[in-house]
Amino acid sequence: MRAMSGGRGDETQLSNGSSTDYDLIIVGGGLAGSSLAIAVAGRGFRILIVEHQEEFRDRIRGEVLMPWGSLEAKRLGIYDLLLESCAIEAAYFSSFTNGSSPAVRDLPATTPAATCCVTFPHPEMQAVLLKRAETLGAEVRRGTVASAVAFGEVPRVHIGGAAKGLSARLVVLADGRDSRLRSLLGFEVRHDPEQLVTAGMVLEGDVNCSEFLAGEARPSANTVNLFYDPAGGRMVIAMRIAPGRNRIYLIYHKDVLPKRLSGRHSVDEMIRQLRAVGAPSHWFDRARQAGPFASFDGSHRWVEGPYHEGVVLVGDTAAATDPAWGRGLSRTLRDVRLLRDRLLESSDWRSAAEAYARDHDDFYGRMRRLEAMQTALLFERGDAADSRRKHAFALFAHDPTRVPDAMGLGPEAPSDDQARARYFGEI
Ligand SMILES: Cc1cc2nc3c(=O)[nH]c(=O)nc-3n(C[C@H](O)[C@H](O)[C@H](O)COP(=O)(O)OP(=O)(O)OC[C@H]3O[C@@H](n4cnc5c(N)ncnc54)[C@H](O)[C@@H]3O)c2cc1C
Repeated sequence: MRAMSGGRGDETQLSNGSSTDYDLIIVGGGLAGSSLAIAVAGRGFRILIVEHQEEFRDRIRGEVLMPWGSLEAKRLGIYDLLLESCAIEAAYFSSFTNGSSPAVRDLPATTPAATCCVTFPHPEMQAVLLKRAETLGAEVRRGTVASAVAFGEVPRVHIGGAAKGLSARLVVLADGRDSRLRSLLGFEVRHDPEQLVTAGMVLEGDVNCSEFLAGEARPSANTVNLFYDPAGGRMVIAMRIAPGRNRIYLIYHKDVLPKRLSGRHSVDEMIRQLRAVGAPSHWFDRARQAGPFASFDGSHRWVEGPYHEGVVLVGDTAAATDPAWGRGLSRTLRDVRLLRDRLLESSDWRSAAEAYARDHDDFYGRMRRLEAMQTALLFERGDAADSRRKHAFALFAHDPTRVPDAMGLGPEAPSDDQARARYFGEI
C-alpha cells in the first residue's frame, strides 16, 4: 500500500485506489505527538495534530529528562531546539542519603553517550515542540477534542460532535496517561498495584534548586539534587526549570502518609516533608509554591501490543511508568524514535506499526522489571526490607556496578534475574 501524498487540501491516495484525508492523524500535542510529527516531517506526509488545550498549562508532569533520554532527543533532532528555547542542561546528579555527604555524578564524564540531564517547564516544552511541528508543515488544531476513533483498513478520527470522521493511513493516539480514547477503543489497560506516590510542586522566587550543595562550588554546573530517606520511605528530587522557577517532587511509599498531599491546604505539610528528607531550609524561606499542587499514583499502567487495526499508541498512552523514577519523557522519546524508524523503513504502515508494538513491548518490559527492582529495594517497608537494604548498600559501597546504570543506559541497564540478585546482594 504505497501512499502518494498530495499538498494541503488534497487527499492522500493509496495504491489500492482508496484515499484518506491525511497520512497521519495524531491525537495529542504533548511530547509524544509533537516530536513524532517533527521526526517524520519533510517527507511529504500530510499530518494533522489534534490538541485539546488552547494554551498549555501546568498539569504537574515531567520536567527532567535523564541522560539516556537526552540521547533520544538528540537522535530525534529536538535537543538543540529545546536548549535554545526553554531547557537547561544539568551536568551533575547529586544524591544525598540520610543527609550524608552526597554521591555526585558527573554525567557527561560517566554516561555512555556523554549526555546531561535536561530540565524545562513542561508547558513551555510542549508549546515549543508543537510550534516546530507546525512550522515543519503539520496542520495543528488547538483547543480541539478528538471525541472518537474508529479502527479499520482506513481508521478515522472524529472531532468534537462531527458525524463524519477524518480518515488517515495511520492514527496515532498520544493523548496521555488517562487516555479516554484508549478505553473507548477497548484496549486492555494493565495496572500494577499502587506502591509509590509522587507529589509535585513548583517553587518560585530567589532560589536555585539546581545549586551545587556538595561542598566545593562548581558555579557553572547545574545539578539535579536528590535526597533519600530510606527508613522514612521518602525521596525528594529538585531542580531549576527556568530562572527563579524550580520543580520539586516528593516521592513516598503509599503507607508513609495518611492521605495524599494535594491542594493549597497541603502545601505546609509538603514543605515539612521536604525539609525532613533533607531539602535545605533556605529554599522555602526565599521562595513560595506556585501553580497547581497534587499527588499521583505512580503504578505502571500499560497496553500490551499497543497497535490494532490502524491505530497505534505512543508515549504515556502506550505505557506510563512510575514518575518516581523520572523516565517517562525519555521512554516517550524512545517510543517516538522506534515508531519513526519503522514508519520510514516501510510504506506498509500496518506492518510497521505492528513491528513498533513489538519493539515497544520489549524495551518497556525491561523498564518495568528495572523499576520494580528499585521500588522493592529502596522503598519497601518493614524490618526485613530494612536489613536487606543495609546489606545491599554495604555491598554497593565496595562494588557500585551492582547498581544498574538506569540513568545512563535506560532500558538497556541490566534487569534480568542475575542483575536482580546482584542488586539485592543475594549473589
Ligand atoms: C507527577 C508526575 C511527574 C513526572 N515526572 C517526570 C520526570 O521528572 N521525568 C520524566 O521523564 N517523566 C516524568 N513524568 C512523566 C512524563 O510527564 C510523561 O511520560 C510525558 O509527559 C508523556 O508525554 P505524552 O505526550 O505521552 O503525554 P502528555 O504529556 O499527557 O500529552 C498528551 C496530550 O494530549 C492532549 N489530549 C488528551 N486527550 C485529548 C483528546 N481527546 N483530543 C485532543 N488532545 C487530547 C492533552 O491535552 C496533552 O497535551 C511525570 C509524570 C507525572 C504524572
